[in-house]
Amino acid sequence: LRFGAPDLHRNDALRFSFITAILVAACWVAQRVSRSHHDMRVKSDALTHALHKVEHMAAHDQLTGLINRHRMHEMLDKEWQRLQRQFRPTTLIMMDLDHFKRVNDDFGHQVGDAVLHRFAVLADTYLRDADIVSRWGGEEFLVLCPDTSADQALVALNRLRDQLHAQTFLTDIPALQITFSAGLATLRPSESMVSAIERADQALYEAKHTGRDRFMQSP
Ligand code: GH3
Ligand code: MG
Ligand code: MG
Repeated sequence: LRFGAPDLHRNDALRFSFITAILVAACWVAQRVSRSHHDMRVKSDALTHALHKVEHMAAHDQLTGLINRHRMHEMLDKEWQRLQRQFRPTTLIMMDLDHFKRVNDDFGHQVGDAVLHRFAVLADTYLRDADIVSRWGGEEFLVLCPDTSADQALVALNRLRDQLHAQTFLTDIPALQITFSAGLATLRPSESMVSAIERADQALYEAKHTGRDRFMQSP
């Protein structure tokens, strides 16, 4: 059987239309796949971002931006494990703002919050980089100083106290003076972190009762 010239043209045209239709369909499918990949990537990025945000919120105190008590417990556990492998001098510092209730009473809770935030910034700035500062409670801050003797921790604490004395604490209320007291405990070999925290707390109590704006070291 032989085709005549008009049949050949018709067949070519049909083939061309068929191929064009397939190409258009393939492009459409490819576009859909690429769009859904893109959508999936956007959704996955958003999920990762949300997860990081949730993780950050779970570990940090919203007011001060410092790590919270829960996260600090994890850091203390980790440090304690490290010390079981290689014992190094490690010091804990419990800091507490002096007469903070008066700040709230005299200036209001919002100013109290601003004081907590500013203290956190100063503590983070003037203690050493390796020191881990946490918001332990209302106006209490627990600091973990790895590879640090009590004497070395005292140098950093004195630097922080000197800055508190020298700087205007809140520019809105230049007359406002803030001081803090602290108790230090250097971990004993095989002592638990809980026990060292208790000793730091006891030393803080003594610092409060011997006049405040001072530091005491647990024996
Ligand atoms: P001391 O020198 O003995 O430590 O006295 P203090 O007044 O600092 O201690 P006290 O425990 O009597 O009061 C602490 C106050 O801290 C009471 C509480 O209302 C306040 N406080 C706790 N958390 C916050 C907070 O997040 N924001 C504000 N503004 N105040 C807080
Ligand atoms: Mg206090
Ligand atoms: Mg307190």
